[in-house]
Amino acid sequence: MKRVYTAPNASMVHILKDMLAERGISTRVHGEGLLGAAGELAPVDTWVELHVVEDRDEAVASRLIKEFLGSSPSHEDRRWTCQQCGEVIEAQFGVCWKCGQSRNRY
Ligand SMILES: [Zn+2]
Repeated sequence: MKRVYTAPNASMVHILKDMLAERGISTRVHGEGLLGAAGELAPVDTWVELHVVEDRDEAVASRLIKEFLGSSPSHEDRRWTCQQCGEVIEAQFGVCWKCGQSRNRY
């Protein structure tokens, strides 16, 4: 088990858990058992953690979570291929520098 995400509230953890489950990655939520047993509000310092069951899923799960949350993966991952001429374009360019075609997907 490896921790791939932690948050101060359980709802985002569960959203990510469902998202990963759809992609075939099994996860477990930790920390929830500490709250709500007696209907009490969670202490602010109790964070809920998401762990992958299989350690080998850690890298993929971390990447999916990053993408899901909208933070930037490396530029390498964000390159796009021009639909018109097939040139591979760096992420920061909105149009193909070779033929002028704009990025039409992604
Ligand atoms: Zn092009």
